[in-house]
Amino acid sequence: MTERETEGVTESVAGRVANTSAGRMRAADSEAGKNDRFRDGCGIFGVYGARRAAELVYFGLYALQHRGQESAGIVSSDGTCVKGHKGLGLVSDVLTAEVLTGLPGHLAIGHNRYSTTGRTTLENAQPLLVNYQGGKLAIGHNGNLVNARELRGKMEAGGSIFQTTMDTEIIAHLIAHSRGRWIEKKLKDALSEVKGAFALVMMTENKLIGACDPRSFRPLCVGKLGNGWCLASETCALDIIGAKYVRPVKAGEMVIIDEGGMRCVQALKSSGKAHCIFELIYFSRPDSTVFGESVDKVRRKLGRTLAEEAPAHADFVMAVPDSSNSAALGFAEGSGLPFELGLIRNHYVGRTFIDPVQRVRDQAVRVKFNPVRDILRGRRVVIVDDSIVRGTTSKKLIRLIRKAGAREIHFRVGSPPIVGSCFYGIDTPSRTKLIASSHSVRQIAEFLEVDTLAYLSMRGLRSCVSRPDDYCYACFGECYPEPVGNGGGKMALEGNRR
Ligand code: SF4
Repeated sequence: MTERETEGVTESVAGRVANTSAGRMRAADSEAGKNDRFRDGCGIFGVYGARRAAELVYFGLYALQHRGQESAGIVSSDGTCVKGHKGLGLVSDVLTAEVLTGLPGHLAIGHNRYSTTGRTTLENAQPLLVNYQGGKLAIGHNGNLVNARELRGKMEAGGSIFQTTMDTEIIAHLIAHSRGRWIEKKLKDALSEVKGAFALVMMTENKLIGACDPRSFRPLCVGKLGNGWCLASETCALDIIGAKYVRPVKAGEMVIIDEGGMRCVQALKSSGKAHCIFELIYFSRPDSTVFGESVDKVRRKLGRTLAEEAPAHADFVMAVPDSSNSAALGFAEGSGLPFELGLIRNHYVGRTFIDPVQRVRDQAVRVKFNPVRDILRGRRVVIVDDSIVRGTTSKKLIRLIRKAGAREIHFRVGSPPIVGSCFYGIDTPSRTKLIASSHSVRQIAEFLEVDTLAYLSMRGLRSCVSRPDDYCYACFGECYPEPVGNGGGKMALEGNRR
């Protein structure tokens, strides 16, 4: 491991980046964006008022590892001294016991990154720690700003210098430029300039601050830990440290936590909520509560509703593990069919397996999933998956299952066909790569070589959440709640590098 220190932040690279697990993932992802999944944006977590807050943040990040595996970092403060460490790799690679010992204090924030703006480089790892006139400020961001290119262009024209290619740095610049006297006002000024999706955890020397965009695209919640407080992307991060879930941070709300306790202000006027429905379909852990909804309960409802809408004559129901488990259990409940473990997932390959060499690329699905032949042989099966993006992984899986002896395959999808890309903090292939943007359900069934194929309807999806009008469904119908303009995509700010 190599280590260097800049501005109170130590940075580490576990071996050559390309040789870390995260490095391998990114290397392959960047290969023409071949990922066949929507990919989470980031996980954020903050703790105020606990002994050795950085250690608690470590555990929180560990629970949120599924939200980002490229880089991890923590910044902590004892009230005067702010220190940070970040690096490329998984939480356990980057944040070693030795690193945590060097991060003292009762206040800390942390971040797991999956890049949705900017490349996977050490300087783009978060939290971003900056010095400005008011002192030190650290920021962890989940989401994407849709006006990042425009704002950065203006700032650069005015002489601002950027260290990273992340949209998050724009927020730091806007805070520094604000004439507000206090951090709350500076932040309010800054956030009223940016558009798009942001759930933020931030800290100064002595304050922990959380904020959500006016539509609350990405989740952020408040937890209580003894006399202290936490902010987290998902409640599974609160559970792991024994904190109690209090409530979600509201759309446009800013939460300030310091020695006086917690204060909440409506910093930005909410223009109607647009929570990402995909958090409930796929991204978040089933043991979490996000946007006030139990993820497992919603997924089971998705499965039950799908069973009502598109029943199948089959012997049993199986999931594409793990993200589809709850929906498949719901389908089994709704259809009265037994649930079987027809596929076993290798948990040691992470969310994405990267083939070391091109010629064994087709092995990737095999490495991640193995069919259970004795269960599948001669049987009629319903396979439930959460979504189909390009369709290439589903096709390989179906071939595996067919080869293992399944007599009939009925594919059921726990969401409507995906026809549009996301601009709000989820890494998605371009529209043309989305199979449903150019193929009918019948054509997709032929491509996948399944006996029958059915997707959940939009109406069915909406019926599974408590407040259906509070969600974004743009990837299913291209009706974008926040104008996306010409954001330029994930690498939009890379063009600004000299
Ligand atoms: Fe979520 Fe899709 Fe909306 Fe993006 S476009 S925020 S993935 S629902």
